[in-house]
Amino acid sequence: MRAMVLDKPKRRLELRELPDPRPGSGQLLVSISACAVCRTDLHVLDGELSDPKLPLIPGHQIVGRVEELGEEANSKFHIGDRVGIPWLGWTDGECAYCRSHRENLCDRARFTGYTINGGYAEYTVADARYCFHLPDRYNDVEAAPLLCAGLIGYRSYRKTGDARRLGIYGFGNAAYLIAQIALYEKRDLFVFTRSGDIATQQAAKKLGAAWAGGSDELPPEKLDAAIIFASVGALVPMALRALAKGGIVVCGGIHMTDIPSFPYADLWEERVITSVANLTRRDGAEFFELAPRVPVQTKTETFALEQANTALDRFRAGELSGTAVLTMGE
Ligand SMILES: [Zn+2]
Ligand SMILES: [Zn+2]
Repeated sequence: MRAMVLDKPKRRLELRELPDPRPGSGQLLVSISACAVCRTDLHVLDGELSDPKLPLIPGHQIVGRVEELGEEANSKFHIGDRVGIPWLGWTDGECAYCRSHRENLCDRARFTGYTINGGYAEYTVADARYCFHLPDRYNDVEAAPLLCAGLIGYRSYRKTGDARRLGIYGFGNAAYLIAQIALYEKRDLFVFTRSGDIATQQAAKKLGAAWAGGSDELPPEKLDAAIIFASVGALVPMALRALAKGGIVVCGGIHMTDIPSFPYADLWEERVITSVANLTRRDGAEFFELAPRVPVQTKTETFALEQANTALDRFRAGELSGTAVLTMGE
């Protein structure tokens, strides 16, 4: 099979011809049709996440078809089924976290496209228990961004409870999907972009945001919750200052620059700062039930597998008009 391979952080991906993987016990062999690019892929490539598998095939928003079932993978998938493979690739099922419905925090969790091979390739293998059936409403390219931007965005959103006035800092892929759910659930949406990014602010208002402005501005009303999707630590104290009493700031990314210090008064009155790590299978089940009802729309830009470096460069430079999705062709 053809695959785009990372030999070492901070290097370009290289196109390689590799042997097709073989499904182990409990695994599916999947012929990949699409794999969306996530900001986490950039963090892995840049060496900002410790101890990746090397060499590594990145990519954790994978859509494909089941080609073969490994032994004991007779669960919910049949040969030919469409399947979605997310970031959470395996957990031990027995640590204190797994036993308390927090498999996202499993001590021995394995992650697709980070500690196990992912989807920048024509084939992959995946533990069937962590794979999803995908709503029919979406074609393969449309469905791919739902697998991380959607799922982990949804987990971030759920952490905001029933907040009526919801702020979103950074209006990228995850924010775009989650904003649609927030509006569907009748939240008042306040969108913060880079100062002066009028085009994005207008897009947010067109989608239905009550207000959109720069992240250095305060919203017209205090917020009950804010989600930070941008990987900029300086946004944390800014978001905190925008909160009403008892409000929560949710950091939705896997990596963030350092958070500057701030006065305790900004945290007092039971304001909360938290982060979101990974996803649980339950997040996936809930999100894939909800997404087609909204219906959540994805915006994508497709690239051939061998153009992965171009897709990553354009993502890094902020030059994409939607989520980059690699397609494997025939
Ligand atoms: Zn565990
Ligand atoms: Zn991701």
